Amino acid sequence: MLLERVGGGFAPCHLSRVSEAKSTSSAPGSCTSAAEKETGGAEQREKQYRAHQGFGDRRGGVISARTYFYASEAKCDQHMETFLSCIDASSASSQDGFSAIKLTALGRPQFLLQFSEVLVKWRRFFHQMAAEQGQAGRAVLEMKLEAEKLQEALANLSVATKAESQRWFTGEELGVSGTVDLLDWNSLIDSRTKLSKLLLIPNIQTGQLEPLLSRFTEEEDLQMKRMLQRMDVLAKRATEKGVRLMVDAEQSYFQPAISRLTLEMQRRFNRDRAIIFNTHQCYLKEAYDNVAVDLELSRREGWHFGTKLVRGAYMEQERERAAKIGYDDPINPSYEKTSEMYHRCLDYILEEIKHSPKVNVMVASHNEDTVKFTLRRMMELGIHPSEKKVYFGQLLGMCDQITFPLGQAGFPVYKYVPYGPVDEVLPYLSRRALENRGFIQRTKRERELLWREVKRRLLAGSLFRRSP
Ligand SMILES: Cc1cc2nc3c(=O)[nH]c(=O)nc-3n(C[C@H](O)[C@H](O)[C@H](O)COP(=O)(O)OP(=O)(O)OC[C@H]3O[C@@H](n4cnc5c(N)ncnc54)[C@H](O)[C@@H]3O)c2cc1C
Repeated sequence: MLLERVGGGFAPCHLSRVSEAKSTSSAPGSCTSAAEKETGGAEQREKQYRAHQGFGDRRGGVISARTYFYASEAKCDQHMETFLSCIDASSASSQDGFSAIKLTALGRPQFLLQFSEVLVKWRRFFHQMAAEQGQAGRAVLEMKLEAEKLQEALANLSVATKAESQRWFTGEELGVSGTVDLLDWNSLIDSRTKLSKLLLIPNIQTGQLEPLLSRFTEEEDLQMKRMLQRMDVLAKRATEKGVRLMVDAEQSYFQPAISRLTLEMQRRFNRDRAIIFNTHQCYLKEAYDNVAVDLELSRREGWHFGTKLVRGAYMEQERERAAKIGYDDPINPSYEKTSEMYHRCLDYILEEIKHSPKVNVMVASHNEDTVKFTLRRMMELGIHPSEKKVYFGQLLGMCDQITFPLGQAGFPVYKYVPYGPVDEVLPYLSRRALENRGFIQRTKRERELLWREVKRRLLAGSLFRRSP
C-alpha cells in the first residue's frame, strides 16, 4: 500500500486475487504444522488459534482490507519485491513517505497463529500469577509480581525449579527490583530464544502441564526464519530510503504475533527516528492495554514509538468466527464502545506526545468526530501540526472533504493508494466503498457540502474560479 501525502508523495498497495476455492483449501494446510498433522497436536491448540475449514477464506465479511493467502515461499518473495518497489516509489515521490505492508503476505500464517497463541497464553499465565498474588483487577502496568513468590509458585506448579527461574531472571536482568511486571515477563518469551520451545505451562481448564509451543519441523523452522528475513530486508530498505514502514493489523488470531514482530523491528530500527509503525485496532477489548504496554516498553528502552490507530476492519468475520467456534468475542460490544476506546487510546498517545518527542501516531479514520477530537486535543495540549508527530490517513477517493482542508491547514495527511491491474483494483475499491455504515452518511455529507459551495458561488457570481 502506497500512501500519498496530500500535497506530497505516494506509497502503493498491490492487489492480486486468489479464487475462493483455492483460498479455502489452502488456508487450513498453511495454518497447521507438519508435526501437528502427525500427532493431532493441532487439536490441543486453543480454539481461537486453530485453523478452521469454514473460515479458510479469510476474506469472508471483510470488505475493507486486502487478504493474502499462502501459496509458496516463492510467492512470498514476490510479495516482498512488490513491497520493496512500494518503498522505492514512496521515497522517490516525497521526503516523508509511508509504505504499508501485511505480514500474512510474507510467510506461512501457521507461524503467526502459533506464535500468537504462545504470546496470549504467556500473558494469561502472568495474569493468573498476578491473581494469586492478590492483584487481579489492577491496571495492567500496575501489576507487579513479587519475584520471590513468583519463583515459589513456578516451582509448585512444576513449571520451573527455583534455580531455573532464577537463571531466566538473571539472564534477562529481571526482578532486580524484587518485582516482575508484564513487560519483564514478556521479555522472557523472545522469538529468538529456545525458551518458548521448551516450556510447559499449566492449562487453566484441565490443570495439566502443556507445551507452550508445539514443535516445528526443520522445514517449518526455515519458513519462519525466511519470513523474519523478509521483514528485515524491508525494514533495512525503508531505513535506507527514509520511508516509514507501516505494518497493517490483521485478524485477532494473527495479531498478537504481528504486533510482537513489529515491536521487535521497532526496537532495532527506531533508535534514531520512527521508521517502523505498528497498528493498534481499537475495536479490540484489549486495545488500551496493548497501547499502554507497547508505549511503556518504548519509554523504558528509549526507542521511537509509532503507531497507526484504526477502529478495525475484520469485525463481522471475527464475531462470526468467535460465535461459531465458541470463544469470547474479542471485539467491543458496540460501535460507541469502539469509538470510546479509540479516543481513549488516542488521548493517551497525544498526552505522551506532549512530553516526548519520540512518540508518533497516524490517525487512520474517516470519522469526522475522531478527526475533530484529535484537532481539539492537539490544540489543548499545544501540539502544533508542524511538529509532524500526528499524521492523518484516509483512503484514496474517500473523505476528501476532511483530507483536503487538513492538508491545506498544514497537517500531515496521507491517502492510501492501492495499485494493481484494473480488474483487481476496481472490485477492491468498490468493496471499500461499502466498507462501513458511516459511508453513506458521509457521501451525503460530501454532497451537501458541495451543493452548499455551488450555491455560495452562484450567489457570489463566481461559479468558475481560477486559482491564483
Ligand atoms: C489509512 C487507513 C489504514 C487502515 N489500516 C488498517 C489496518 O491496518 N488494519 C485494520 O484492521 N483496519 C485498517 N483500516 C480500516 C479501519 O480499521 C476501519 O475499518 C475503517 O477505517 C472504518 O473506520 P472509521 O474510523 O474510518 O469509520 P467509522 O464509520 O466511524 O467506524 C466503523 C468501524 O467501527 C467499528 N464498529 C462498527 N460497528 C461496530 C459495533 N457494532 N461494535 C464494535 N465496533 C464497531 C468497526 O471497526 C468499523 O470498521 C485502515 C483504514 C484507513 C483509513
